Amino acid sequence: MTDETVLIRCRNCGARNRIPVARLQENPRCGRCKTPFPAISVTSRPVMVTDATFARDVLESPLPVLMDCWATWCSYCGALSPILDDLARTYAGRLKVAKLNVDQNPATANRYSVMSLPTLLFFRDGKLVETAAGALPKAEIERYLYPLLNH
Ligand SMILES: [Zn+2]
Repeated sequence: MTDETVLIRCRNCGARNRIPVARLQENPRCGRCKTPFPAISVTSRPVMVTDATFARDVLESPLPVLMDCWATWCSYCGALSPILDDLARTYAGRLKVAKLNVDQNPATANRYSVMSLPTLLFFRDGKLVETAAGALPKAEIERYLYPLLNH
């Protein structure tokens, strides 16, 4: 187990709660208003997102989300894939790594004006906070992640 913590914003009162990752599975509640947090996925693998599940899996995620917009024919996306797997393992419980197939889910891709592949979208508290295009190295993606994970 890890002694890492994660900041989770309460949907009821807006308070930010710092919770040990090791306790995320114990149905934590907001320290101020005692509202239970929604179930928090601590999966160590990327989650496949569709137009139908995007709102729930990304916008309503208590954890920050890194979403990869990709397509089967995109060779750069293939190169990025093992890096995303690696990030999902490294930041399990602190970050959700999601993947959106843009050919099968055009509504979400259009909503965020995804023009080139791969495109990485960074979400926190239901808002798009950063966009990065191209098959970036792991260290560069982590530079985008730091502000999401630490504030
Ligand atoms: Zn609260």
